[in-house]
Amino acid sequence: MVLVAPAGRHRRPTPRPLSRLPLVLTAGGAGLALPLVSASGAGAASGGLWDKVAQCESSGNWSTNTGNGHFGGLQFTPSTWKAFGGTVHASRADLATRAQQVAVAEKVLDAQGPGAWPVCSVRAGLTRDRAADGSTARRAASEPGEAAPRTGTATARQASARTDGTGPAAVGDGRGHHRVVPGDTLSGIAEEHDVRGGWQRLYTANRTVVGGDPDLIVPGQRLDLPGRQVQERPAAPGTGQEAANDPAEQSRSRQDGQRKERERQRAAEQHRAAEQQKAAERQKAAEQKEAAEQKEAAERRRAAERERAAERERAAEQQKKQKAAAAKEAPASSGWTAPVRGYASGTAYGVSGPHWASGHHTGQDFAVPTGTSVRAVTDGTVVAAGWGGSYGYQVVLRHADGKYTQYAHLSSISVRTGERVTGGRQIGRSGSTGNSTGPHLHFEVRTGPGYGSDIDPRAYLRQHGVTL
Ligand SMILES: [Zn+2]
Repeated sequence: MVLVAPAGRHRRPTPRPLSRLPLVLTAGGAGLALPLVSASGAGAASGGLWDKVAQCESSGNWSTNTGNGHFGGLQFTPSTWKAFGGTVHASRADLATRAQQVAVAEKVLDAQGPGAWPVCSVRAGLTRDRAADGSTARRAASEPGEAAPRTGTATARQASARTDGTGPAAVGDGRGHHRVVPGDTLSGIAEEHDVRGGWQRLYTANRTVVGGDPDLIVPGQRLDLPGRQVQERPAAPGTGQEAANDPAEQSRSRQDGQRKERERQRAAEQHRAAEQQKAAERQKAAEQKEAAEQKEAAERRRAAERERAAERERAAEQQKKQKAAAAKEAPASSGWTAPVRGYASGTAYGVSGPHWASGHHTGQDFAVPTGTSVRAVTDGTVVAAGWGGSYGYQVVLRHADGKYTQYAHLSSISVRTGERVTGGRQIGRSGSTGNSTGPHLHFEVRTGPGYGSDIDPRAYLRQHGVTL
């Protein structure tokens, strides 16, 4: 039972028809087949061969990705990795396990031979016939030349002869066919050889050989591999399309391809770096420009502020000058004032009447109570201070403009003749002395020191800013 489909998906626990099985058993016997199974297991040791290839290709680093366009321990190109089904395991070879990379390498070796690794296959001693990981035994079974010494192949040969009738001699190319070995299943074979349509198609194509039960295949049976030709010889791991069969030429070509690939990548990196550099410079230039503009704007603002400040200063200076000029031009009028405060208007200047000697009133009367403070209307010198006849007690002042002012009917006098007084200073108090009808101040302005040169006092005071 071990000989036929020992582990396949199609294995059925139910008893199978014994029609074929006895043929195998009688022809080869389990005892003969078992060593072949052992040989297959022992073949894993030859995985060391792939390790040697990997040592040569990638220093034995199965997960290497140096950016040279080749990946993993055996330096697969992505196209080769994909073409031989590696993407079932991982998107790139360097991401797959060693066992997975070896499995794909087996297929590549199968299709392209050791020239796929033109240099390293020679160094490692890799040949088409000496593959790794158990395929040695399988190949031994499928290659009639090497199969002879093996005891197991005797079984295969006999079984083969009995089942398909062609004999081992018909299998010469080692390609497009598969010779069943112990442990094989249709699904396993279909998977191993990438048969499109899977084990079902494989079975259909070999129905005459296999018979009615797809679970029952026999060591030595020669199976056609449908769809195998279609995907034959995809790109080599190296440069892809090279057709040269000369290993040295392939090696040169592959190294040339790798060199070109590296140069392309270097150029691309340099281009990227140059672009980044340019972008950085543009950014920097923009920042500098902005900074310069901001600085300029700030400069302009400061200049405008300075200009405004200067303008304010000039205006202030101008105002100050104008004030000073005004002060200079202004008459010494600080001392001008009315002779009494809080008065009611009395008889006005110029009113005519028989009781005045001149025929008219020569001054301006202010109706104020006796004792009201009487002041000099401006700076002046006292020219008379005493009794003035009908004027009663009086004070007469002479001013800088040559005019005289007279204050009459006083109740008291507080200055002496010849004394200089300032405007606003009290010179006496009002009363009703002399020829007076009641308490009031008679105020008179004259152009000369004596009686008869009177002028309008209201107009005179108004000239000096004092309105009565
Ligand atoms: Zn009067």
